[in-house]
Amino acid sequence: MMTFLGMPFSSKRHAQWVNGDPLPDDTLRWGAKFPTGAKTTLRDTQLRRNLRHATGAIRNKRNIRVSEMPDWEDLRTSASQIKHYTMSHLPQLLRQMEENVTKHGGIVHWAKDKAEANAIILRLLQEKQAREVVKIKSMATQEINMNEELAKHGIKAWETDLAEMIVQLGHDMPSHIVVPAIHRNRAEIREIFKREMENIPADISTEPRELAEAARRHLRELFLSSKVAISGSNMMIAETGTVTIVESEGNGRMCLTLPETLISVVGIEKIVPSFRDYEVFLQLLPRSATGERMNPYTSMWTGVREGDGPKEFHLILLDNGRSKVLADSVGRQALHCIRCGACMNVCPVYEHVGGHAYNSIYPGPIGAVLTPQLLGSFDHHDPASSLPYASSLCGACFEACPVKIDIPSALVHLRHKVTEKNRGPVPSGWDISMKASSVVMGSGKLFGAAARAAKLGRPLGGKDRRITMLPWPVSVWTRNKDVPAPPAKSFRETFEEEK
Ligand code: SF4
Repeated sequence: MMTFLGMPFSSKRHAQWVNGDPLPDDTLRWGAKFPTGAKTTLRDTQLRRNLRHATGAIRNKRNIRVSEMPDWEDLRTSASQIKHYTMSHLPQLLRQMEENVTKHGGIVHWAKDKAEANAIILRLLQEKQAREVVKIKSMATQEINMNEELAKHGIKAWETDLAEMIVQLGHDMPSHIVVPAIHRNRAEIREIFKREMENIPADISTEPRELAEAARRHLRELFLSSKVAISGSNMMIAETGTVTIVESEGNGRMCLTLPETLISVVGIEKIVPSFRDYEVFLQLLPRSATGERMNPYTSMWTGVREGDGPKEFHLILLDNGRSKVLADSVGRQALHCIRCGACMNVCPVYEHVGGHAYNSIYPGPIGAVLTPQLLGSFDHHDPASSLPYASSLCGACFEACPVKIDIPSALVHLRHKVTEKNRGPVPSGWDISMKASSVVMGSGKLFGAAARAAKLGRPLGGKDRRITMLPWPVSVWTRNKDVPAPPAKSFRETFEEEK
């Protein structure tokens, strides 16, 4: 076995991926509608157990940390206002960012879509003759399918965030934006490590310390041998041209400091005007994401500096549909997201179906708002058009969101867009029944008469007072949900009596 600086070096791993190791199934992205994905994941009882346990644990930790903050609501309000300001001054702030990065020796690229972003990355890597790169914290590169694009050109991108690495080694897809391997338990992770890593002790246990040690040895050689790193960013600071990453493991810092060249791919919305603004998010993000008071590692870099970190820094500002989202006065709230994952941890739908059911890089409540908008998917043939319906509209996500994104209202708004987009020239049965309902509900007399008439259907409810089947057009409803049997006395009648 070759060694590199004392660590075992395996050329097999490199060859494995570059030479056609199966990539994650691309049909999982934008491939199927939510109900289809949910039907599959709901059958996986192990996944549901893992999810219930993990989301419950994160939720409890988050609640404890939030209760320590008397000014939590004020912070949320400030964050929301900063984001509103940022979105309405986005062009100016991005230009300021570009000026400051350039002034400090960095190079800024603008990518209008995934094809442009991938072409820029590929060109830079080919100039450096890089055959492999290390990667950290970049959902934007997942959004543009960068790993798969690079693999077509014989370049392997190694995930170095521990959870992302587990997902990659498991030929899997992330299922949470903060805890991508939330659907895996320790026993499953041990099996993935045993299958995919060389020189792993045969008797490795499921103890976190032993698993972390195996991961450390696996990653260390990559950090030391890679000449180029690719990162995302939690936030950019326009006034100084600073790019930042917060993380828990320190792997990000290895990526950001050891390689000679650093390429950061960042969505154009991930920006705040000043350091003072950033401070607000540094208090909200760790508490909301992992229930920590602060992130163990906060890395910031501004261009390049002689003798300190990478010699070359490229910042790719990615649009990929964000300008379109910005143009929608309700939907644009989705661009305020700081990717903390709190909305997923409280969502009853997410907790049952898990992230894979959404068939989207961004799962959960925020994914249901962001993905259809980024893809412009409102035609009912588009799988992502089903996502706004993946919610009970209970409002838990709104309450948990540290930047006060009104996800339920945005979901209703997007449902309206889907409905309007698919409205045909001839009114459908659903259109007719909704129109009829609005006439009845808009008139006190008609509504009272309807309530009295509905009482005739009371015997249909049987003993359990639930009606499971009704003729068209109400069958559209009863196909999926039971209707409670009408009460013996309506509210109006009771009210009249009491009066
Ligand atoms: S929508 Fe809010 S709660 Fe959900 S990930 Fe984004 S910032 Fe966090």
